[in-house]
Amino acid sequence: MNKQFDYIVIGVGSMGSSTCYHLAKSGATVLGIEQFELVHERGAHSGQSRIVRKAYFEHPDYIPLLERAYQNWQEIEKVSGNKMYHETGIFYAGPVGHTIIESIRTAASQYQIPLLDVRNGDQLEILPLFDLPEEYEWIYEPEAGFVETEKAILSYVKEAKKLGTVIHQHEKVLGWELINNGVEVRTSNGNYTCKKIIVTAGPWSAKLMPSINDQLKITRQTLMWIQPDDANAFKTPGFPCWFVVDKEKPGAYYGFPIAEISDTKNPIGFKFAYHYPGAETDPDEVDRNITEIDKEPLLGFIERYMPKAKGQVLDIKTCLYSNSKDEHFVIDCLKETEGRVCFARGFSGHGFKFVSVVGEIMADLAIKGFTTLPIEFLSAKRFLKD
Ligand SMILES: Cc1cc2nc3c(=O)[nH]c(=O)nc-3n(C[C@H](O)[C@H](O)[C@H](O)COP(=O)(O)OP(=O)(O)OC[C@H]3O[C@@H](n4cnc5c(N)ncnc54)[C@H](O)[C@@H]3O)c2cc1C
Repeated sequence: MNKQFDYIVIGVGSMGSSTCYHLAKSGATVLGIEQFELVHERGAHSGQSRIVRKAYFEHPDYIPLLERAYQNWQEIEKVSGNKMYHETGIFYAGPVGHTIIESIRTAASQYQIPLLDVRNGDQLEILPLFDLPEEYEWIYEPEAGFVETEKAILSYVKEAKKLGTVIHQHEKVLGWELINNGVEVRTSNGNYTCKKIIVTAGPWSAKLMPSINDQLKITRQTLMWIQPDDANAFKTPGFPCWFVVDKEKPGAYYGFPIAEISDTKNPIGFKFAYHYPGAETDPDEVDRNITEIDKEPLLGFIERYMPKAKGQVLDIKTCLYSNSKDEHFVIDCLKETEGRVCFARGFSGHGFKFVSVVGEIMADLAIKGFTTLPIEFLSAKRFLKD
């Protein structure tokens, strides 16, 4: 078995799969090591779908990266022949003047992203499917949708393997150390050497890397699927993704239309969740039992804001967020390793839409030592002053 590679990618989940593909495109030899099977339910990527949107309320600096991400989603769809991005549009609603709603407007106007806006007198047919409080306003972003997570990861891995990447599943990386001009990686099956490693270990990142002071906090999140009594009203085309602030709480609830997608692991239904960090957990000791405490707030939101979607609960599952201290991504290389250890972590519950561009960024950092994509604001440097 070959033990020497140009690059080793630690963790072949969301970011790692795309990183393997983008590294392999350069002709380099690549080993991707995954502790579980490819696509599993113990990390951050499970549960069928993730929202993709561009009028980024988290910060407009993400928008140039999103523009590249949209292009790269098209590229992997073309190369693999698999459709994984579905443009449904997204409906946002919240109290008048709410930061999220205002930040969407600001981001969209800065980058000329088309929006429909109640303030401009625009109309929307789906409004009667929501029961919004009087003081709420809404915005609609047409160039948004969702990406199928498991399909995306498997497509990236398949294309990376066609380019020669070696993928080891059920092998855990235990540690790494710098050696002459390279890095040695120690796993549950043996040792490997390479020029550089890329750590894309998601919720396990803090266990594999020295502290970079981003105070990574892993939280338990839940996802629910229901079958609305009037399911046809909530299907795509027609019904979009949505993101609605609950005026009683921080964060927001969001969900997806019922879509004709193939998924053998999860129900096809009306999927939704609460976007706010849940209880802190250790990624190796997550409580996967579902109780009334998990169900009650999700069903309570539907009862209050979307009563027409009420129906039978099909499933509820857990998933993990890796929250950095400021809830922005942390993408960089460790200076003390002369760039031999690069990492992408702290995706804070909003990273999947960037998978297609993060792979390109990580390949740039590893191969060239820099990227022309604007990632300065995501550097670990920002934590040094704390
Ligand atoms: C409920 C939920 C909803 C979300 N909704 C959205 C959304 O709508 N839009 C959006 O953009 N984002 C969303 N996200 C966020 C997005 O899914 C994550 O940001 C993204 O999946 C993070 O990818 P990752 O590669 O860091 O982690 P993962 O996909 O978990 O990959 C890390 C991989 O590393 C492996 N690994 C770890 N340690 C080791 C080791 N020592 N040896 C070998 N392998 C190892 C793990 O097994 C895993 O497969 C959501 C997340 C959750 C949980």
